[in-house]
Amino acid sequence: MLGGLQKLTLIDYPSKVAATVFTVGCNFRCPFCHNPELVLSSKKFERGFLSEEDFFQFLEKRKGKLDGVCVTGGEPTVQKDILSFLKKIKDLGFFVKLDSNGINPEVLKETFDKKLVDFVAMDIKSSLENYHKACGVNFDLDKIKASVELIRSSDVAYEFRTTVVPGIHVKKDFESMGVWLDGIDYFALQEYRDEGKILNEKFLEKQEKIKLDLQEIKECLQNHFKNIVIR
Ligand code: SF4
Repeated sequence: MLGGLQKLTLIDYPSKVAATVFTVGCNFRCPFCHNPELVLSSKKFERGFLSEEDFFQFLEKRKGKLDGVCVTGGEPTVQKDILSFLKKIKDLGFFVKLDSNGINPEVLKETFDKKLVDFVAMDIKSSLENYHKACGVNFDLDKIKASVELIRSSDVAYEFRTTVVPGIHVKKDFESMGVWLDGIDYFALQEYRDEGKILNEKFLEKQEKIKLDLQEIKECLQNHFKNIVIR
């Protein structure tokens, strides 16, 4: 199910002119999530905001004008038809960037094996010790570890990224992530911004006013990763 379309982005797909399509549904409940309408099922999404037919008609018209398509969510890998959906995009000649929370390493592997993805961006929600708090659900963390290993050992271009959230993270989470993810090519630290809508309103009430210094975190991680940026 598709929840929306951004017809043009110059920032979502590195070095590409792209469109971004949003899928509905996610199996995480990150309290700080800025896309609650894409996470929680609701009647207004029963038929989606965007039909696949309209989406592919749009892409047909953008052939030669866009380089690629970013597929984001929610969590795209929970869509039952994600493989056929990505294949249809690829068959139209577009590069595909897939955003994922890493919960489905088996699906990610299939997308890689079938050459359906050219770039993958995986959220690292926190250190392994703090993962369940950051994503709001309990599950087998081996899935996250498997996705990380799959991505870093693949020939698909990738980035790992973490939104740094005061009240969720403390500095030692990043020290631990540096050890866990040691040697990866590209890591982005994303500043948490209050965008006015959030999955768990109570989180805002409880949110501790801890100041996390992204530059300091970057310095703590830069010996572990080949490239690290703040954005
Ligand atoms: S921030 Fe968390 S809850 Fe929101 S879409 Fe991403 S993984 Fe799902």
